[in-house]
Amino acid sequence: MEKKSCYGCGKEALSKSEIGLTKKLLDKDSKRFYCVDCLAEYLEVDVEILLAKVEEFKEQDCKFF
Ligand SMILES: [Zn+2]
Repeated sequence: MEKKSCYGCGKEALSKSEIGLTKKLLDKDSKRFYCVDCLAEYLEVDVEILLAKVEEFKEQDCKFF
């Protein structure tokens, strides 16, 4: 499987959740992926909010997660 790294900080091996969040919150066809820290900064929200969203999406059985 292809390993994704964060476009913002270069963190390697992003988790499935981080990739899913990028797709869900930015663009489902995004070629750039972000770790939760960079996503939070980009979206100007708290990391906690993003982590809560991950749980929310998991409960909805989103295909990205
Ligand atoms: Zn990052």
